[in-house]
Amino acid sequence: MSDFSAWMLTRDEDGHQQVRWAALDEADLMDGDVTVDVSHTTINYKDALALTGASPVVRRWPMIPGIDFAGTVRSSNTAGIAVGDRVVLNGWGVGETHLGGYSQRARVPGDWLVGLPAAFSPEQAMAIGTAGYTAMLCVLSLERHGVTAGDGPVLVTGAAGGVGSIAVALLAAAGHEVIASTGRTEEEPYLRGLGAASVIDRAELSGPARPLAKERWAAAVDCVGSHTLANVLAGTHYGGTVAACGLAQGMDLPSSVAPFILRGVTLAGVDSVMAPASRRHEAWERLATDLDAGALAAATTVRPLSEAPDIAPDLLAGRVRGRVVFVVPQD
Ligand code: NDP
Repeated sequence: MSDFSAWMLTRDEDGHQQVRWAALDEADLMDGDVTVDVSHTTINYKDALALTGASPVVRRWPMIPGIDFAGTVRSSNTAGIAVGDRVVLNGWGVGETHLGGYSQRARVPGDWLVGLPAAFSPEQAMAIGTAGYTAMLCVLSLERHGVTAGDGPVLVTGAAGGVGSIAVALLAAAGHEVIASTGRTEEEPYLRGLGAASVIDRAELSGPARPLAKERWAAAVDCVGSHTLANVLAGTHYGGTVAACGLAQGMDLPSSVAPFILRGVTLAGVDSVMAPASRRHEAWERLATDLDAGALAAATTVRPLSEAPDIAPDLLAGRVRGRVVFVVPQD
């Protein structure tokens, strides 16, 4: 009789990857002082890479994927975290080097957990997930660099994806004029519904960039990298800031120093995985006050966890709109 079940990634001697719904025991879990009954998880770009094996994000085998989870504390040896508390986890290598959230049960160090803000249900917390929490980190980064709503338009690239959708909603709610860049121009009504003032075709930004271009936006949240980020930098107003968090087009940055030394543009890097606890708490507190529940619901689809391996290739192909929450089966 097993204790719980989880999606398990394994690799054979030839390096071929398999994914199966496996029966596991508590003893299979890794070290940690808090054990959580997981009720909801989600899919991020990185989860799709792990599930498909498209990129080597998994660095421990076998692995339970899932970089996010929400649930209820089952046992705790951490002061301040009690049995029955509702908690959220984002990143820290979970689903990469530490067994992850596509599971009925997870065990992690207590200081990796954030208490679920009262404003959110576990389902809403996973609708936000790493994608939404990263979008909030990007907005906070722009604020730290002095970007305010009166400065001019803010561009969001990869806007119909998970990070992009939540970034559009957060920036619009804060009073910014948001330009949404997407390859799915048929999603214009969706993006306008989240608060975008205008929508541009990502093809405008995806080719090789000139060092400088017409100044079109005061700031940007970039989920795409590569030529797109180079074009975003080239089109940023004098003194503007670009928060870079993603690589959907590529890991490279074929740019020049021109935007930095001739226009004083700031390129602000954003990492969610190892972000310190203080920044995580700040992000979740701001999400609780700033994120419109209607916009979050509009960006979210809820599916059973059994569908995760089928959804992963669609997400990598850019066919998933916004955020997908997975409900973890409880029997
Ligand atoms: P999604 O797959 O949900 O969204 C990515 C979006 O990027 C797509 O929906 C699409 O948007 C756009 N896109 C995809 N392929 C291309 C391409 N070849 N050229 C241009 N645009 C493209 O992923 P997430 O929103 O979860 O993540 C976005 C990025 O941010 C990923 O690269 C992810 O790895 C990264 N990330 C980084 C984090 C960090 O800590 N720094 C945390 C979370 C994510 P559209 O259809 O609108 O064009």
